[in-house]
Amino acid sequence: MSARPTVDQSALLPASLRDDFPILNGDVLAGHPLVFLDNAASTQRPRQVIDAISDVYQRDYANVHRGIHTLSERSTELYEQARENVRSFIGAKHAHEVIFTPGSTASINLVARSWGGENLRAGDEVLTTVMEHHSNLVPWQQIAAQTGAVLRHVPLTDDGRLDMGQFDALLCERTKLVAVASVSNTLGTINPIDEIARKAHAAGAVVLVDAAQSVPHMATDVQASDVDFLAFSGHKMLGPSGVGILYGKESHLDAMPPFLGGGSMINEVRLDSFTPAALPAKFEAGTPPIVPAIGMSAAVDYLNRVGLEAIHHHEQVLTQLAYDALAQIEGLRILGPAPEYRAGLISFAFERIHAHEFAQVLNDQFGVAVRAGHHCTQPLHALLGIPASTRASFYLYNRPEEIDRLIEGIAKVQSMFALKGRRRKRKQ
Ligand code: PLP
Repeated sequence: MSARPTVDQSALLPASLRDDFPILNGDVLAGHPLVFLDNAASTQRPRQVIDAISDVYQRDYANVHRGIHTLSERSTELYEQARENVRSFIGAKHAHEVIFTPGSTASINLVARSWGGENLRAGDEVLTTVMEHHSNLVPWQQIAAQTGAVLRHVPLTDDGRLDMGQFDALLCERTKLVAVASVSNTLGTINPIDEIARKAHAAGAVVLVDAAQSVPHMATDVQASDVDFLAFSGHKMLGPSGVGILYGKESHLDAMPPFLGGGSMINEVRLDSFTPAALPAKFEAGTPPIVPAIGMSAAVDYLNRVGLEAIHHHEQVLTQLAYDALAQIEGLRILGPAPEYRAGLISFAFERIHAHEFAQVLNDQFGVAVRAGHHCTQPLHALLGIPASTRASFYLYNRPEEIDRLIEGIAKVQSMFALKGRRRKRKQ
């Protein structure tokens, strides 16, 4: 393996960012400095987010929208400021188009049940893709089973991008909704969302974007992209778990029936009926994720300060480095397209070593945390002919030296497994 080229440090975010993340500087792995490359699953939190959460609990916490006392007013104000902050972050027109949910999965289920239940009929088609996370497949399977709608799946090109020729061929007057990820959590592929939205609208379909893997890493503008729905999660963007966003155009959200029933989502309740509240309360039944939403807003502030463009650029540099080094390793198959078509994650598979075993040794002996498994894309793995893969995913705090540790670790684990294999053969 040749030595890695030196990286122009000015192309990267400052290493001092890492000081904001207590967990990266703690002793997580008994002696090993932690190399955290599992950011596509969930990211770490900076002190600013941890402090924002702790501050609310210590100074401002009460239930929102209910009390007339000071603490309730304060927490309501912080909660609604968080909504406004997210609105501006994704370029939405109105704050009431931003619904707090428990996460991307919940957001997509809301649309499938509410919009799908109201608008899909037998024979209608939902067009999705073979690279979707289970969160953007199963809810559509469920609503299709209920309504008689049919699911269609856009296939891949040989290099792991969406086959847009097939997208064009599959999109037709029966297509009522296109549900697609902006970035594949397994292949890393960046999908052409603007083009997809334009074509879907021309065909009369609405567009839901699963943006769990793009909102944290690149600038989002829902109005410029003209998407109808957008789903993402706080915990993948330096925020707390338990909170996510459903963005929906006002006209769609207004026309949709409430998904969950209960407190807060009503205007008036009688013993045998109710009238729903206006947006956004209509889709926020029960006590919402108050503190997680406020923490998510602190994460938005943090990302804005660093700058989404700088974050994306930093990740591109790391991805190119990792890709070039991984491509030199014999017996390792990189899944997905060339770096110019992908976001900051790379999944790979080995010919003779299972991903789980591999990731375990990488963690235990080298302090490198990566993901192993099917990453909730079982149909995609089946299509690729492998049961599982190993995934390294990067974020704003990762450094080139950590890519070196990953590559060194892979080489050493590979030779350990090769030695084991030879010993086993000799014994037979
Ligand atoms: N969609 C994509 C592309 C993802 O990567 C994930 C999480 O890994 C999800 C949806 C589900 O997100 P959550 O578990 O936060 O609901």
